[in-house]
Amino acid sequence: MRLKDKIAIVTGSGQGIGREIALAFAREGAKVVVSDITDEIFRVVKEIEAIGSEALAAKCDVSKPTDVKNLAELTIERFGRIDILVNNAGIYPSKAFLEMTESDWDKVLNVNLKGAFNCTRSIVPQMVKQRYGKIVNISSIAGTAVGFAQRTHYSASKAGIAGFTRALALELAPYGINVNAIAPGYIETPGTQGMAKETYDQIKKAIPIGRWGKPIDVAALAAFLASDDSSFITGQIQIADGGYTLQ
Ligand code: NAP
Repeated sequence: MRLKDKIAIVTGSGQGIGREIALAFAREGAKVVVSDITDEIFRVVKEIEAIGSEALAAKCDVSKPTDVKNLAELTIERFGRIDILVNNAGIYPSKAFLEMTESDWDKVLNVNLKGAFNCTRSIVPQMVKQRYGKIVNISSIAGTAVGFAQRTHYSASKAGIAGFTRALALELAPYGINVNAIAPGYIETPGTQGMAKETYDQIKKAIPIGRWGKPIDVAALAAFLASDDSSFITGQIQIADGGYTLQ
């Protein structure tokens, strides 16, 4: 129960890594605001209630500042504070750079990077008031440790998240707010399903630990970074990739 009675917002938590983070936080005693653009949030809230914890469903498109403002207000109205923010919502469409349009680029940057900015900007004033907060950003090995072909926009957004994390950690440290990021490698989620079996197996072979990651591999790390066990850690980008980027 490392997060007992803490109030956490997890964006993009209707499925995949975000859902698993929301569930892991609930198991650690947190009350979780499950936020996404999809109706899956209602299912995740039920899953959290089944664990015996409290949850609130909040529809929110992180690329829309008004949605995000409402998310912060709704959370404070219901729970009175915000202890943890996980900027997880993200998209990773594949597109060759030579075919990329300005709108392809803007869409990915607006969700993945500006979305994190929007959420953080709306929520940080409350954390500053509390003199307490934990921000966990979901970056990627793409852009931070390796290059991902067909994903220049995605890689740029995730490298941006790493830079944002380090700079923000410096600015918020005096207020008792820790800011860290996780850079996952290949994780099996609804978003990564649907690839050819051959590609899936090729990637598996390239992961020294011998398997794709599971959402819980990221969620367990997020729970640590959101807890006071990591209170001396800030501005770090922690890779969780089964050793993929070591070679
Ligand atoms: P996922 O299965 O696609 O789930 C992401 C969730 O976020 C979906 O419910 C998605 O809704 C939602 N979402 C999309 N746009 C949004 C927006 N504008 N506002 C709010 N929510 C939005 O993805 P995942 O694989 O769990 O990935 C989660 C995060 O981890 C992402 O930031 C991703 O870049 C990062 N990551 C994933 C991997 C991996 O291998 N899976 C590796 C490294 C980093 P829709 O389904 O309607 O789009």
